Amino acid sequence: MNILLHTCCAPCAIYPVSQLRSQFTENITLFFFNPNIHPYQEYKKRLDCLVSFCDKNDLPLIVEGGYQLTEFLRAVVFQEDKRCSICSSLRMTKTQEWAKMHKFDAFTTTLLYSRYQNHHQIKDQCQILSQESKIPFYYEDFREGWQYGVDISLEQKLYRQTYCGCIYSEQQRYDKSQRPKKRKDRC
Ligand code: SF4
Repeated sequence: MNILLHTCCAPCAIYPVSQLRSQFTENITLFFFNPNIHPYQEYKKRLDCLVSFCDKNDLPLIVEGGYQLTEFLRAVVFQEDKRCSICSSLRMTKTQEWAKMHKFDAFTTTLLYSRYQNHHQIKDQCQILSQESKIPFYYEDFREGWQYGVDISLEQKLYRQTYCGCIYSEQQRYDKSQRPKKRKDRC
């Protein structure tokens, strides 16, 4: 079985990779498609850290799409309140398409590791994409390994981001007047 693991960053990949290796398959390919990460230097920091993580752990990595600031903003502009659903849909759709085109047996995502993402919405999006494409979606609640991933990422001194990814989330992280009252908007 070979699986395509959509990956947002190295710290979030630690636990899913360890789980997939122990429960499912050794044949894991990481897939970096994240047009939501801004600005460019932040995108580069996350990607560079992931490249190094993959080298150390002998994991193949596909980097798709490059830095797509303009494309992402065009997708969410005038509907910023729905941006997280649009964001995960863009990323999961591309992952599923890539899995189908390159004949992977299944796909999944490190977004299911985050405590801050809309877990059930992402799961539902993936299940619908899977039904449409006939590419199986591997579901696991990777949030159970949250602390394990944090501990290993700190031990290995991996770059840990301080906000979710888009420039809206960066503002919400640092501009107190913009912070939603209940939502923790970072992964
Ligand atoms: S807050 Fe995070 S999930 Fe939502 S649109 Fe921005 S990067 Fe995507």
